[in-house]
Amino acid sequence: MTDKGADEAGRRTEQLARLQGIRSYVEDDDYNYLDLTGIYSSDPVAKTPFIVAGTFIPEEIGGTVGVVNADEDPEETLARENLNQMLNNFLPGGYKQRWGNFDLWRGNWNHESAMGHADIGPMFDWAESYPLTDLLGDVSEVEYTELPFEPEDVRVYVPLTIRVTEENKSDPNYVWIPEKGIVWTGDPPMTTEPLSSDPTTNYLWFKHIAGEFEGEREPVDSAGIISSYSFEDDCEFVRCYYGSLLTLYPADSTETRSEIMRYRCESDEKTAFVASNEQSQLLTFELDRQDLRSRLQSTLDSNPRLRRDLQFALLESNIWQRLFFDERALNHVYAVRPLVEHLLGIDYQSRVVDETELGVFELSGTKVADEVKRLLPDESDRHLRLLGHERRDVSDVFTTIDEHPGPIAELLARCRNDNLVMDFAERALVHSAEHALSTWANNLMGSGTSFELWYDVNFQETGDDTARIAVYDPIQGGAGIAKEVYQQLQANDLDIERGLAAQGRCHSATADRAAIELLANYPDGSLYDVYRNDHDEFVEMATDVVKSKVDDPDAYSMDDLVAHVEQRTRNLFETRELATFYSYVADEYTRVETAIGRTPRVVDLALHLNRHVFTDPEIKATYDRFADDSGRRDIAELGERLGELVVQCVTACPDCLKTETGLCLHGTGQQESRLNRRLLSEVFSQ
Ligand SMILES: [Zn+2]
Ligand SMILES: [Zn+2]
Repeated sequence: MTDKGADEAGRRTEQLARLQGIRSYVEDDDYNYLDLTGIYSSDPVAKTPFIVAGTFIPEEIGGTVGVVNADEDPEETLARENLNQMLNNFLPGGYKQRWGNFDLWRGNWNHESAMGHADIGPMFDWAESYPLTDLLGDVSEVEYTELPFEPEDVRVYVPLTIRVTEENKSDPNYVWIPEKGIVWTGDPPMTTEPLSSDPTTNYLWFKHIAGEFEGEREPVDSAGIISSYSFEDDCEFVRCYYGSLLTLYPADSTETRSEIMRYRCESDEKTAFVASNEQSQLLTFELDRQDLRSRLQSTLDSNPRLRRDLQFALLESNIWQRLFFDERALNHVYAVRPLVEHLLGIDYQSRVVDETELGVFELSGTKVADEVKRLLPDESDRHLRLLGHERRDVSDVFTTIDEHPGPIAELLARCRNDNLVMDFAERALVHSAEHALSTWANNLMGSGTSFELWYDVNFQETGDDTARIAVYDPIQGGAGIAKEVYQQLQANDLDIERGLAAQGRCHSATADRAAIELLANYPDGSLYDVYRNDHDEFVEMATDVVKSKVDDPDAYSMDDLVAHVEQRTRNLFETRELATFYSYVADEYTRVETAIGRTPRVVDLALHLNRHVFTDPEIKATYDRFADDSGRRDIAELGERLGELVVQCVTACPDCLKTETGLCLHGTGQQESRLNRRLLSEVFSQ
């Protein structure tokens, strides 16, 4: 038989099989008429569409789930809702006003469980459940999670129905139960600590691909870092929620406190990860790690300031992991930033006053405690106290450092280890490239939707030659957007690396920098007269400075930048007195930057001015006024004033790479430190 004849015979066999299937459906079924679901289940060739027939509204990623009121007997169905949204609002620790008369609801989970756990069994009917090792394979630890888990002890549960129960809206009576390590409402027969409101709850999650990557890799012609890309029409990720990070507000107190709750399914006696299945169309890029690391190395070697800023990002990220999650050494999530600010302050002191090379990174834990003591004097409002930090005997930051000298020293030592800095840089770069891929693909399509993001967080542990980053449509089953990007990649010779590099170019950071430089060019404050009297001249001056700050004019809107600089100047030039003060400080900013070898923050400027000898009595008077107010009142006036004159976006901000917390794997606190716009732009435009 010829090839053509074989094709024809094959097609006929297929058609016969399909007709046979449909006929047997019509004959066997009790209702012998043909509906769409019937065809799909009996036709061996037809593929079930992911979007349920009967509605034209596409489902959000993760699909929908039935919600029932557990207080009624029989249970009353309240709604069908998106599963991810339900889990993000009603897993233990979540209380939301919703159905009925905008009533207050919580998931119907129970407190009869292990310490620090909630029994989520009563809250759900399951569509399926399976051992975590079925998903992750025979691993010894769960690499994805901030908390330790024994993979053998965990089952993954996918909800079919969610049960909620109504709370007393007018008096919910939130409490913490210390002996159970959970939050509760009402008046349980146990010792409780009253809370002044519901907790702020963030859910911890990760995503893992179900199955393998199957898309065919298409090589990139001008292969650099991005060696290939691929597309998959039908891909599934399992999003696992494994814990609730709660911020509690104890009653009759101004203190806040963070706690973590995990989940168990007591009927199975298993630790529970609650999962949603995200089915979509996936666009993947493979990054060549060898090329990436060699470019990273030369970027870090030629950019000592970028490297030093990166060391502080590593420090912050490690503080989250080690001090917050592992050691539980910080009382709450808001304690991370002040600790970092103190360490930056010590770095300023160490580099500029003590003239050490490595700054804070070369200090021992006890030396750090001594330095903090020095910077938080009892009697005066100088040094760090200018920024509203408490004196040492009541300082939480001092207590943390004083009680954990070992971990503090270790974290600092890690930041001076070249290999660890390099590894962190690589992780930050791959993560940044993932965010950049999303915004770049979005710009390309002008679709205005936010892609779902995924990257292989464990690429270093697995030792792969490539690191994968991916985006997929936020609609269950896909919406064709990722596919269109893929088709454009195939059809056009797009410069992907330049496209990704452009996403790291931050408008607000560039404008901040230009505004500081513009002011610094006239340290005597004479810019004020131009600003007041000659608008055209001012715009021309601003434009010149902006141009000098921009390496790729196509990546920016120049008009926006100039407008932004003008706006900044307007805020700073309210009066001649302020204009003189800010122009002078802008000039000092450049000196501080040179001295510390990294991007100056508010704390650096404050410590610098604190020891600065002002020669102009008027500028000194303005400084003294702000500094004195900082001590007298419960606000840090100086800190706020100096905040107007620093570059706000050091690593990432919503104007460049930062995205919604629900989209970013590191959204719970670490997103900024684990992104790096400058690293991205430098490496991808090499
Ligand atoms: Zn930014
Ligand atoms: Zn992210």
